[in-house]
Amino acid sequence: MLSDDTPQKVDTDRPLILLVDDLPANLHVLAAALRGEYRIRTATSGVDALALLERADTPDLILLDVMMPGMSGIEVLRRMKADARARDIPVIFVSADSSEQSQLSGLDLGADDYLTKPVVAAVLRARVRNLLARKRTERQLRLAAHVFEHSGEAIMITDRDNRIVEVNPAFTRLTGYTQEEVRGQNPSMLSSGRTTREEYEAMWRDIRDKGFWQGEMWDRDKDGGIYPKLLTISVVRNTEGRVDYHIASFADISEQKAAEERIRHIAHHDALTGLPNRLHLHISLEQAIASARREGSELAMMFIDLDRFKVINDTLGHNVGDSLLVEVSRRLRDSLRESDLIARLGGDEFAVVLTGLGAINNAAHAAEKIQLSLSRPYLIGDHALHSTPSIGISLYPQDGDTIETLMKCADTAMYHAKEAGRGQYHFYTESMNRRTREHLALENSLHEALERGEFVIHYQPQADLTDGRPVGAEALLRWRHPERGMVPPDEFIPLAEENGMILPIGDWVLREVCRQLAAWRERGLPLLPVAVNLSARQFRQEGLAGRVRALLGAAGLPMRAIELEITESTAMTKADTSADVLRALHGAGLSIAIDDFGTGYSSLGYLKRFPIDKLKIDRSFVMDIPDDANDTAIASAIIQMARGLGMKVVAEGVETEAQRDFLREQGCSYMQGYWYSRPLDADAYETFTRKALNLA
Ligand code: C2E
Ligand code: MG
Ligand code: MG
Repeated sequence: MLSDDTPQKVDTDRPLILLVDDLPANLHVLAAALRGEYRIRTATSGVDALALLERADTPDLILLDVMMPGMSGIEVLRRMKADARARDIPVIFVSADSSEQSQLSGLDLGADDYLTKPVVAAVLRARVRNLLARKRTERQLRLAAHVFEHSGEAIMITDRDNRIVEVNPAFTRLTGYTQEEVRGQNPSMLSSGRTTREEYEAMWRDIRDKGFWQGEMWDRDKDGGIYPKLLTISVVRNTEGRVDYHIASFADISEQKAAEERIRHIAHHDALTGLPNRLHLHISLEQAIASARREGSELAMMFIDLDRFKVINDTLGHNVGDSLLVEVSRRLRDSLRESDLIARLGGDEFAVVLTGLGAINNAAHAAEKIQLSLSRPYLIGDHALHSTPSIGISLYPQDGDTIETLMKCADTAMYHAKEAGRGQYHFYTESMNRRTREHLALENSLHEALERGEFVIHYQPQADLTDGRPVGAEALLRWRHPERGMVPPDEFIPLAEENGMILPIGDWVLREVCRQLAAWRERGLPLLPVAVNLSARQFRQEGLAGRVRALLGAAGLPMRAIELEITESTAMTKADTSADVLRALHGAGLSIAIDDFGTGYSSLGYLKRFPIDKLKIDRSFVMDIPDDANDTAIASAIIQMARGLGMKVVAEGVETEAQRDFLREQGCSYMQGYWYSRPLDADAYETFTRKALNLA
C-alpha cells in the first residue's frame, strides 16, 4: 500500500521524509512525531518503497524499518546503493533489534544513523534534524569544492597573515604557478610593480573596514608576462569576528582591455586615414596647451585645406577622393616629426600641432615642407592629380591661449592663405608673416651666398696697450647681400648655425684668412696673427685641429699665424668634451682665446682646466669704464685673475682714451676697438699696418 499524506498545498520548502514500516501503527507513531516540520510519505514494504523511489520525488531522508516480511530494510538499502539515483539519499534504520551486529551491518552498508524501537518522539526529531543539517552542510561543501575546482576565475585563499593557503586550477592556468609553488607565499609574488604603494594601502583599508574590495590590477605571470586582472577580495571571519581567511578571485581582462582600447581608438580616429580625429585633437591640444603653459614653451597650430579637392571628388568620384586623402595623410606623416600631432578634421581639412621649444620657428619650415610634399602630383589609378594645400597658422601664446581661439585664428589665417592664391601658408598675425618671410628669404639666399662670393672678411687691428704697437687682428665676416647691402654677422650667423650652413661658411673663413695672410707675406708684410671666430658647431666638428693645420700647412704658414676664438658659453657647454677639443687644438700648436668673457657664468678657476692663451673681456664691461664702478671693478678683477693664471687679456670695444688708460693701468695686455681702429677691408688693413709699423 502506498500513501501520501502531503496536503494538497504544494510546499516544497519542508523536507520530504519517506517512512517505511510493515506495521501501520509504527508508521503512525513516526508520522505523528515528524508531521508539521516535514512532509511525510509512507510505504509498508521494501518493494513498495523502492517502487516509490523510482516514480515519485526523491525524499530528503528515509526512515527504514529493518525487519520486514518479504524484503528486509537491509536489502532495500543494498539495492538503493546499487542505484545511482537513490544512492545518496540519507537513511536512518529503525528497528526493534538493538543487537550490535544488526547496527553494524546497517551502518556498514551506508545507513547514516540507527534508531531502536520504541522510538522516543523528541529523540527522533533531534536525530532527523541533525542528520538533515549535516547532509545540507555536506552538500554545500561539495558544491563549494566543485565551484573552487571548476571555476573559470582564479581563486586564491590566504590566511590572516596573508600567506597563500590554497589556490584552484584556474589560478594555475592563469598565473602559471602550481599550488605547491605558491603555498605559504605572500601574494605580492604576483605583483607586476605597476600598482603603487598608495593603491595597495587603499585596498587594504577597504578590506579592513568593509571586508571587501574590487578593482583592476596589473600582475606578472610565471613567464614574466604582464596582464590586467579584475580582482575581488573578501574576508572570512570566525565567530569572534577575527579574520581567518582572505578569498581573492580574479580573471584576466586583457581581452576586455584590448576591446576597450579598440573602441577608444575607433572613437578617436578617422576610419579612412587612421589619423586622430577632431575629438582626439581636442584632447591632445588641451594637454599640449597645459604643458606649454607650465613649461613656458610655445606651440604652433596649423589648419591645412586641400585646394581643388571638391572638384576632384565630384568629377572623379569618392573612391579617387578617398585615395587622395589617404595619400595626403601619409605625406603629412612623412613630412613631420614623430612628436608632431596630425589630425583629420573632416573632408579635406587637416590640422597639425607643433610643440616644444622652437615650435614657432619650426612652423614656417614645417609649412614649407608640407607645401612641397602635398603639391607633388598624386598618382591614383590612372589619374595624375594635382592639388596644393592652403595652410593657416596660429601661435600659442601670441595669438591665443585656448583651444577655441587657436583654432579660430588658424582658420582665419587659412582663409587669408586661400585669398592670397592657392598653395600658400599664412600666419594669423601680420608681423609674424613678415618676420618669417624675411627670415626664410634670408636663409634661402644664405645658401647661395657662398657660391656667389658674397662673403668678405674685414680685419680689426689689435694693439699692445703698453707701447701701442700693432700685434694682430680679428677676422670679422661680412655678407654683401645683393639687395640688402651689408648684413651684419649677428643677423646671419645664428641662422647659419641653426641650419648647418655655418660649417662650409666657417671653413671658407679659415681658407680665406690663410690665403690673405700668404698674399700679404708675399708682398713683404710682417706676419701678424689673425684671430678667427669659431661657431659652436664648428668647434665640435670632427677633425677640426687637423683641418686648420692642413690649411696653414698648404699656405706655407706657421701655426702661430692663426689664433682661434671661441665664446665662453661654447667652451662651457659640455665642458668635458670642450676640454678634449681644446687640448687637441693646443697640441697642434694653435693659440686659443676665450671670446666675450664675462657674459657666461664660468669662473676663472674653472677655465684653469683648459689650455687657454687669452681672455677677451666683453665689450659690455668696457663700455662704461671708467664711470661705472661696478664695471671697472669687474674689468680689473678679470685682468688680475687672468694674469695670475698666466693668460693674456684683450679688452674688446675700446672706444675712448679714458678706457685705454684705465685698462693699461690695470695691466691689460691688448686692446681692440674703434679707438684704435674699426674693422677694415683687407687693403685698408694692409695700409693701416704698414703705417703703424712705419713701413713704406
Ligand atoms: P666678436 O667676436 O665679439 O667680435 C667683436 C665685435 O665687436 C665685432 O662685431 C666688431 O665689429 C665689434 N666691435 C669691435 N670694436 C668695437 C667698438 O669699439 N665698439 C663697438 N660698438 N663694436 C666694436 P661684428 O663684426 O658685428 O661681429 C659680431 C659677432 O659676429 C662677433 O663678435 C662674432 O661672434 C661673430 N662673427 C664675426 N665673424 C665671424 C666668423 O667668421 N665666424 C663666426 N663663427 N662668428 C663670427
Ligand atoms: Mg671674436
Ligand atoms: Mg667678442
